[in-house]
Amino acid sequence: MLERHSKYWFEDGSVVLQVENSAYNLHRSFLEMKSPVWKDMFTMPVEQGSSEGVSLDNPIILPQITTAEFDELLSFLYHQWTPPPDRTERLVALLRLGNLYQIDDAKEFAITSLSTHPTVHPSLRLQLSREYSLDDWLAPAFTRLMVLPLVSLSEEDVHRLGLFAYSVLAKAKETVEAHRKSVAQSFPIVHLPYRHPNCYKSWKSTWWTEVGQILLHFPWTSWHDAMSRVAGAEMAGVCESCKPRYAHEVGEQAKVWHEQEMAIVDKAIARLR
Ligand SMILES: [Zn+2]
Repeated sequence: MLERHSKYWFEDGSVVLQVENSAYNLHRSFLEMKSPVWKDMFTMPVEQGSSEGVSLDNPIILPQITTAEFDELLSFLYHQWTPPPDRTERLVALLRLGNLYQIDDAKEFAITSLSTHPTVHPSLRLQLSREYSLDDWLAPAFTRLMVLPLVSLSEEDVHRLGLFAYSVLAKAKETVEAHRKSVAQSFPIVHLPYRHPNCYKSWKSTWWTEVGQILLHFPWTSWHDAMSRVAGAEMAGVCESCKPRYAHEVGEQAKVWHEQEMAIVDKAIARLR
């Protein structure tokens, strides 16, 4: 049952549109000015005798969008957005329809607002980035997802990511975790210009308690955090001249480990481009 929209049925409207079960009577020249897609749509030659878009009995149907989305777009176009104009769903609706109907200012407004929006979940940001070629959003969103446990993702998050992105994410996480396990379990070789077997032995246990275990139990801790534990560790049983050498050598290796990990992440991101 088609019903007149409570807000967007203008008595002086000149084009009748239908979205789901709502009819909108809007201003044709205004809409044509905003969207080249609508302009084409409204000026398409119609069959002789047809009067599509001039009455409630024969509206122009806009398929594949919801009234909620369309209302958001219209409130933006007719400048009726009330503060705060930045609820995520509203902005996403504006982005989607702005893109669909090529309304550049709506799309730009949504992108700019969403860019700085703090509450946008990285799964949504990743989805939008891939759907609308917003390449700047891809790497930050993916990197953020890398440090969130998979179990913390809701069904909606997973649905947004889609099977491909989800599997790329899961594989990248597994690869990084395996890399960290191998680093944690294989004691890093530290080359010194002399031999202090006791210091070496003590350092080995310091490594395990201060770093190795941390890497295993908190796989998403940053290398920087893990390494600052080495710097701040007591290193019981290690002599004073060995301590700074171990700390320095491991710090240097940590940079390499970090780069290896970043390479895994970058490779995954490249697959999503
Ligand atoms: Zn020593």
